[in-house]
Amino acid sequence: MATMLPTEKAGARSLADVLPNSARALAAEPNDLDLPPVRSAVVVVVDGLGRSQLAARAGHARFLAARPREAITSVFPTTTAAALTTLTTGAMPGQHGLVGYRTLDASNDRLVNQLTGWDDAMIPEVWQRETTVFEKAATGGIRSFAVGPSKFRTSGFTRAVLRGAEYRGANTITERFAEASRILASGEPSLVYLYIPELDKASHSYGWESPQWLSGLEAVDAELQAFLKVVPPRVGVLVTADHGSVDVPHRAHVLFDQAPELIDGVRHVGGEPRCLHLYLEPGATDADRLALATLWEQSEGERAWVAPRQEAIAAGLFGDVHPDVLPRIGDVLVAARKRIVYYDSRPVDQAARNMIGQHGSLTADERIVPLVRLGAFEL
Ligand SMILES: [Zn+2]
Repeated sequence: MATMLPTEKAGARSLADVLPNSARALAAEPNDLDLPPVRSAVVVVVDGLGRSQLAARAGHARFLAARPREAITSVFPTTTAAALTTLTTGAMPGQHGLVGYRTLDASNDRLVNQLTGWDDAMIPEVWQRETTVFEKAATGGIRSFAVGPSKFRTSGFTRAVLRGAEYRGANTITERFAEASRILASGEPSLVYLYIPELDKASHSYGWESPQWLSGLEAVDAELQAFLKVVPPRVGVLVTADHGSVDVPHRAHVLFDQAPELIDGVRHVGGEPRCLHLYLEPGATDADRLALATLWEQSEGERAWVAPRQEAIAAGLFGDVHPDVLPRIGDVLVAARKRIVYYDSRPVDQAARNMIGQHGSLTADERIVPLVRLGAFEL
């Protein structure tokens, strides 16, 4: 391929390391993050807070930005469903099975939204193939809690990725930290996952370069600082994110369906605007995949990374891929490299085109996230 796929850096820490090593610190075991033994651990996930965004707005997150932070790698695609599942299982998307925002359910010849599309034909406990860190911790006598918005308490995605944790609903950032404090006050060894979706939501609506996103960041920083003042001794706290994001102006929308050769033989277009999964008609061969990838590459040049499925897998982008997961990955993957997004102008509902903040691709702005150690984890 003319545009080389960025491949994994050997030895680089990733999102997959965060929760399993926190659980090891709870068991007073040596671990790959060199976390000291603790009684309880809290892992705070600020959805969409990439390393670049935090660095660019460090003056608005003085508490967080003053702490030593390292850069870790999220997964591909850099989308919430894939990344949070890697966080809570420690497994790569090719193993856990959530490989994009909307992916193919081949048995039913349909695309399914991996956050919201759960039903009797896509059962969370089956489709997400891995044991969670929370389920494993329970066998060692550690209780796990997931603190997030109440509306997600019974969702299919919660069943897929947070099973083994007791869900505690709290609808504001302030209430979520208060809930975490209540859990920690019991003194019982606990693993707490605290999820903050507000920044990602503001980013999609207004962009991360907006005042709305900035006030969200200031709120997160203030709440973290207040929480750390009251956190009991021997409680370690980590702050990380599932992915970063980029703001894309409306004029940079690429309507790919207007070039007929790019959708010829394509039965479903899945993924999301910065990372398309193109699914060919059933029975496609590697040669068919390569042929379509070549057409896209000729069309897109340097502004996208294009790869047939076999090449993306060989580059290690999904980790080892389980045979059950293979059909969920697009026959051809198109990941935006420049500040553009891909839309299909054919569907009647074009509401998705209102989004400003976007993610899903392989740029450092999307893929590199911070890991900040606080409390008993701050050395
Ligand atoms: Zn996200």
